[in-house]
Amino acid sequence: MDFQAVLDDIDAQIRPLLGTGGRVASYIPALARVSPQQFGIALRTCEGQEAAAGDATTPFSIQSMSKVFTLTLAIRGLGEALWQRIGREPSGSPFNSLVQLETERGIPRNPFINAGAIAVADRLLSLGGDEALAKVLQMLSSLCREPVHIDAEVAQSEADTGFRNAALANFMRGFGTLDNEPGRVLDVYFKQCAIAMNCQQVARAAGYLCRDGAHPYDGTPVISETQARRVNALMLTCGTYDAAGEFAFRIGLPCKSGVGGGIVAVLPDRLSLCVWSPALDGTGNSHLGRMALELFVARTGLSVF
Ligand code: GLU
Repeated sequence: MDFQAVLDDIDAQIRPLLGTGGRVASYIPALARVSPQQFGIALRTCEGQEAAAGDATTPFSIQSMSKVFTLTLAIRGLGEALWQRIGREPSGSPFNSLVQLETERGIPRNPFINAGAIAVADRLLSLGGDEALAKVLQMLSSLCREPVHIDAEVAQSEADTGFRNAALANFMRGFGTLDNEPGRVLDVYFKQCAIAMNCQQVARAAGYLCRDGAHPYDGTPVISETQARRVNALMLTCGTYDAAGEFAFRIGLPCKSGVGGGIVAVLPDRLSLCVWSPALDGTGNSHLGRMALELFVARTGLSVF
């Protein structure tokens, strides 16, 4: 398939729509300053064929897309033991909700809501100590074969305003389900969310998820085939906030979105894909990114269903 032609067509259809719908996230001040007039799309096949269009090499804040990669590191380090602290069900509640955590006694519903990702960060600290964050960056750099950095301004902005996240961490600590000091855990969490990458790098980095857990460049196991299948299952059921059902229905690919406007998608055994456009719809997913994924699936017929 001529993927470059497909992505060029999608870019041509999306570009005139820039600025016509959705709003950039404003609850993190550094994100509110990002221009919504941007759209990028990139993919990499399991065989290493690549295609990209639009602003595919412009770095953006990966935000919750980082949760896929921290989950991967935690699964790799802890195996099944990880699930003693984190569930695997869609939450049906907002991504930063405290309510469910109260009734479920400090065990977050899944690793992609904020509480779940904070619990994963806690596990990474227990595994890696002060090296925890460096290991996340190392893994991402290794996966996309380029250096990856934290955007210090975004990280500070999150730390200055992340009161709900602080509440979630303290709440779990109160239930005894967080082992490390909440401030340390939040530092990892805020900084992982503030990692800056571009569509091309994310599409490359997610390559192990379409290759049964094998590194996209050197083929070494990042996680096992079963573990990769499970990460994909969680992305499909819990990866796009409260729109996961709609994403499965209309797109049919495991996806993880972030409030920076990125969405990473995986078609197992075929390709990994990243779209980015900063304006978000009412569910917190990239408005045009979602539309671009729908166009991609309609045009190629590629989906897990
Ligand atoms: N850093 C953001 C937060 O904690 C991540 C949210 C997201 O991308 O879903 O609110």
